[in-house]
Amino acid sequence: MSTDPVRFVTACRVCGSERWQQVVSFGKVPLANGFLDADGSHEDEEAYPLEVISCRTCRLLSLTAVVDPQVLYRTYSYVTSGSETMARHLRTVVRLCGKRVDLAGGGLVVELGSNTGDQLLAFRAAGARILGVDPARNLAAIAVDRGVPTLPEYFDSATARAVADEHGKAALILGRHVFAHIDDVADVLAGVRELLAEDGLFTIEVPYAVDLVEQLAFDTIYHEHLSYFLISTLDALFARHGLRTVDVERLPVHGGSVLVSAAPAEGPWRTHDRVRALIEQERAAGYLDDAVYDAFAARVRTTCTDLSRLVRGLVADGHRIAAYGASAKGTTLLNICGLGRTELEFCTDTTPQKQGRLTPGTRIPVVAPEDVTRPPDHYLLLAWNYAEEILRKESAFLEGGGRFIIPVPEPTVRGEAVVSR
Ligand SMILES: [Zn+2]
Repeated sequence: MSTDPVRFVTACRVCGSERWQQVVSFGKVPLANGFLDADGSHEDEEAYPLEVISCRTCRLLSLTAVVDPQVLYRTYSYVTSGSETMARHLRTVVRLCGKRVDLAGGGLVVELGSNTGDQLLAFRAAGARILGVDPARNLAAIAVDRGVPTLPEYFDSATARAVADEHGKAALILGRHVFAHIDDVADVLAGVRELLAEDGLFTIEVPYAVDLVEQLAFDTIYHEHLSYFLISTLDALFARHGLRTVDVERLPVHGGSVLVSAAPAEGPWRTHDRVRALIEQERAAGYLDDAVYDAFAARVRTTCTDLSRLVRGLVADGHRIAAYGASAKGTTLLNICGLGRTELEFCTDTTPQKQGRLTPGTRIPVVAPEDVTRPPDHYLLLAWNYAEEILRKESAFLEGGGRFIIPVPEPTVRGEAVVSR
């Protein structure tokens, strides 16, 4: 490759400051969704620096390395989870947005990163006009086949102008787990200002920096996630772009997320008391100072050491262990904890695109659950955000004496009627 696929962050993408605190460095890690073909053609697998820094001015948590989206999303196979937990969550988002925006009146809902259209279909069912924008052409094509109009483009100011010209202003612009993937947030927000009606809402769902720290969800750190936001940080960002934070809801998905709504600064929306309250809580809990992030880094190191020790100890005692759920965060967890084929026999996953391939960096074969003929003694649960649903689904495995290792916030072994450490 002639051009360097990595750009190193100097100025903060929110406030422009160059005063950074080093938080954690995981060394070089392969791309979280870069599953490998099993035919041995992966000798040139690339790894990229995975380090988190905190802006001492606005407290954005950012990766240091921005991998070129052409490289990062080349092998992107994430398809919105069809799980029961996620289906319920999509309906929750519609309900929460529907409390604020008149969906039944046919207002336009535009979703950024609309994937295969599940969320928009839920909005259409509530009466809204819908339009998806997603640069992944394969996913956009699936969405269109399902009847969800979708532009296969990046959302930027130019796309926003084109959409406004053709469809009119949007009552709601939604971005679920995409905003934290964006490097040039200024251009996206310029686009939002172009497209959003004066009484419209821009609503994003992003991993919440406070949950990342409190729940020690460090394995949600991977190259796609360029930013982790506090409400204070988002509030400052919106203000720079003529928007005002009007509401926020904390949600339990993906290790702790927030649904944050902003509106044109001079628009009719009242700012909910929750916004000021959360910003004040962040300040009071120390999230504007270095110490919280230093303590986080120390806890991450302890958990990694404990998990490696637990898994290796079980293997040394003759237990057979496999991984459960070839999630993106599993790539981070396995690579930074140094767990691979020596410890884990295979990794089971229901996604057909991952089956028959190898996990990035650690090269563990991914198999379909129905192809597991000899279940292990323990499964290391990489999709721990679905732990309760998975434990219910795997009751036969548990009743047969099987155990699950839940890796974070501290490694815990769970089996039938047994909760031990
Ligand atoms: Zn900053």
